[in-house]
Amino acid sequence: LIQLSIPLNFIGFVYREIRQGLTDVEQMFELLEVEAEVEDGPDARPLAIGSGAIAFRDVHFAYDPARPILKGVSFEVPAGKTVAVVGPSGAGKSTLSRLLYRFYDIQQGSITIDGQDVRAVTQKSLRSAIGMVPQDTVLFNDTIAYNIRYGRPSATDEEVKAAADIAQISGFIEHLPGGFRATVGERGLKLSGGEKQRVAIARTILKSPPILILDEATSALDTRTEQEIQAALDLVSKNRTTLVIAHRLSTVVDADEIIVLKDGLIAERGTHAGLLRQGGLYASMWNRQREATEAEEHLQQVRAAD
Ligand code: ATP
Repeated sequence: LIQLSIPLNFIGFVYREIRQGLTDVEQMFELLEVEAEVEDGPDARPLAIGSGAIAFRDVHFAYDPARPILKGVSFEVPAGKTVAVVGPSGAGKSTLSRLLYRFYDIQQGSITIDGQDVRAVTQKSLRSAIGMVPQDTVLFNDTIAYNIRYGRPSATDEEVKAAADIAQISGFIEHLPGGFRATVGERGLKLSGGEKQRVAIARTILKSPPILILDEATSALDTRTEQEIQAALDLVSKNRTTLVIAHRLSTVVDADEIIVLKDGLIAERGTHAGLLRQGGLYASMWNRQREATEAEEHLQQVRAAD
């Protein structure tokens, strides 16, 4: 009797786990308001992931055929390197990350990971190779531990705690009523954009994918939060192929290459120092943002003095 009941319980457990997984994915799509637009082809194979080198070649894409967003974009993210994409609002920066994750299919060109077209591999294998830290992280109405463990459901409490430490969020969690068992999400404690992003970073640390996509929040963060997030990101992106969709230029300074996207094309590319010397679009964006930051800091000093 005992021998029989264990496997049955186990099956029940696995079944619940699978059901939970499905619900979460559906919920995630719903919350992200993305439709599952693409399907696996009949010959789709699992992605054979090696070092995680990414290549965009002559990528053309439009959500609506009447309005092209990308008009022939080519760049590479060599294995283990970090490439940052900057450019005016609406230039198509976040679109690049959605295409790599294959939320949509491109109309021309190719996107490959370790030489394999993202359209030729199963979505499941593609998405398990990529850790996405989105602009606005979806939190489930559950404990904060559950939300972090989502990155790897088999993770132990110690691993969840260690991931939170690296993501610089454990101090914040320990002050919540109930700590890691505090309920968050719409029906629980509301977290700020910066806190949610650090939960997403902790999730990604547990998932430990070879490829990382970081889509920075547009919202302004205070300098301390920004530094904490930056420190967490430096740790996770180390030795991982990383694509940063940057809204704050402070995060791109150390990137191996910066790509300036404008009107659907790459307008400039190079390192931070190289682009500043060039004195083009990047240099003027940098100067503008620096002036804005200085004005903000001055304002904070004046307020602090009052
Ligand atoms: P920002 O810096 O403001 O976040 P971005 O460069 O990341 O901008 P994208 O989010 O890639 O810009 O959007 C590029 C363009 O595509 C925008 O004009 C946007 O309105 C449009 N767009 C984005 N998502 C969709 C969608 N699902 N359907 C139709 N158009 C879309």
